[in-house]
Amino acid sequence: MKKLPRVLIVEDEAAIAELIAVNLRHNGFSPVWASDGEVAQRELDAVLPDVILLDWMLPGQSGVALAKRWRADARTKGVPILMLTARGDEPDKVAGLDAGADDYITKPFSTQELLARMRAVLRRRAPEQVADSVTMGELVLDGATHRVSYRGQSLKLGPTEFKLLHYLMKHAERVHSRGQLLDKVWGDHVFIEERTVDVHVKRLRESLGDAGAMVETVRGAGYRLTAQGVRV
Ligand code: CA
Repeated sequence: MKKLPRVLIVEDEAAIAELIAVNLRHNGFSPVWASDGEVAQRELDAVLPDVILLDWMLPGQSGVALAKRWRADARTKGVPILMLTARGDEPDKVAGLDAGADDYITKPFSTQELLARMRAVLRRRAPEQVADSVTMGELVLDGATHRVSYRGQSLKLGPTEFKLLHYLMKHAERVHSRGQLLDKVWGDHVFIEERTVDVHVKRLRESLGDAGAMVETVRGAGYRLTAQGVRV
């Protein structure tokens, strides 16, 4: 089953937050409500959402200050932020975008408008798509047909292993840390533990069979796909 996109609503007015949450739930999202920046920060520390809806006027730290902080933080910088502003606050909108918000929406807004903006920011931040083909010696990955072969033999890979191999082949001979692989392969708004990478690398090696030795572990640094030392 597909995971519902998680939306963090940072809004001090409970009635507005509740209305947004109900509409999001009806449209296939999983909303979480935070009434101020502090609660929102705790939520972000626990689970990264796919999108943040951030109210401009909040008690304590303003929406703009929070947007700036989250953009400056390596963990949250990839999460799209949609600012909620009051009607006619033109300078606010500019400041919001300057602070790192991806877009803004003016209250009151329709559910359709909100959904359209959210889908747009989600699309813009989607991880690298796999559509092309890459070849490394006798290892061939075809993005269009989702097929991988080695020495003419077709190999069976799961979807994550496929994306992982595609990324490693596109950036071969370079060492990638687990964090970098999470960003590039899983997407920067998805929170997954780093050891998940190890699990998928192990599966990838197994799926590759004889070519599995091309996936090297670089102690203390991460992983590398290399043609060296392997007869390809
Ligand atoms: Ca408010």
